[in-house]
Amino acid sequence: MMLLEVEHLQASYGPVQAVRDVSLTVGENEVVAIIGPNGAGKTTTLSAITGLLPARGEVRFAGHRTTGLSPEDAVGLGISLVPERRQLFATMSVNDNLLLGAYHRFGRESREAITRDLDDVFALFPLLEDRVDDPAGTLSGGMQQMLAIGRGLMARPRLLLMDEPLLGLAPLVIREILKTLRNLQDRGQSLLLVEQNAKAALEIARRAYVMEGGRVALQGETSVLAQDPKVRAAYLGGHVEPAQER
Ligand code: ATP
Repeated sequence: MMLLEVEHLQASYGPVQAVRDVSLTVGENEVVAIIGPNGAGKTTTLSAITGLLPARGEVRFAGHRTTGLSPEDAVGLGISLVPERRQLFATMSVNDNLLLGAYHRFGRESREAITRDLDDVFALFPLLEDRVDDPAGTLSGGMQQMLAIGRGLMARPRLLLMDEPLLGLAPLVIREILKTLRNLQDRGQSLLLVEQNAKAALEIARRAYVMEGGRVALQGETSVLAQDPKVRAAYLGGHVEPAQER
């Protein structure tokens, strides 16, 4: 059984239909990427899956129909989103931002369980532990992204959705985040990643969907997609040089 199954998803902002027809799946312990240009509907797809935006079509998570659920219910079921541009609470400490990721667990689980997960996040991102009392807004862009991922993990998601985790980061930091994503996968975490950095996304994911104009234009194993001439030309900068004019 697939962990996430999306069929014929549609979502609109008033009269603007941003997602016209998207079907996709994510398996247990699978890393799947959605790539595509600005405005293709990638972010809207994640918003619809996580209940931030009303949607039509069919969304199933772990076999249950979840179309139109609330964001709180999504988190409760094990779907957590690391949003674009991170959306941290800038004046709150690193520690408190992380704890907010676990808000739905308070009262239901022991403090020890939550503290253990906090320690897990610090094991994954040792640099964060050094800054635990600092306001999130004082961290570098790369560290803020690590914090945003850590906050997402504090929800103990079965599926972690990430919107442009590499956006605006320096190449070295990108390497660091990619390494972390591999670590997460090794630990059994399922990931659905939206990314404009197609090269990195195709490197990290096993399967990918290429979105254009609110639809899935192409899909498949990343090893195959990375060789596709259309994908190379449009997303990997592997354009064919036109013959020189004389
Ligand atoms: P990006 O990388 O820019 O986030 P995207 O593929 O994630 O691109 P979406 O953000 O999902 O694309 O946007 C899809 C379409 O919906 C675009 O045409 C965009 O202009 C439109 N759109 C996005 N957000 C809104 C909004 N809040 N109100 C109205 N239209 C919107």
